[in-house]
Amino acid sequence: MRIATDPVCGSELEEEEAEGARLYSDYEMRQVYFCSPCSRQQRSRFFFCSPECKAKFDLAPGFYGGLAAQEAWPT
Ligand SMILES: [Zn+2]
Repeated sequence: MRIATDPVCGSELEEEEAEGARLYSDYEMRQVYFCSPCSRQQRSRFFFCSPECKAKFDLAPGFYGGLAAQEAWPT
């Protein structure tokens, strides 16, 4: 059993339960390292306690994910 934290409201939840209820979003984040010619893509999955929290996150993934908005996009 893995515990995830809802990035919107901060409540803890079980990842399996959130997945079963489709209360998650996958985002890819591109990290650019200016000291090298390479950039890296990273996929992250965020889990939510309710459809309301998921909707809020999907509107502003950069804000809740702690990323610049242009660095996160839905897949
Ligand atoms: Zn929540």
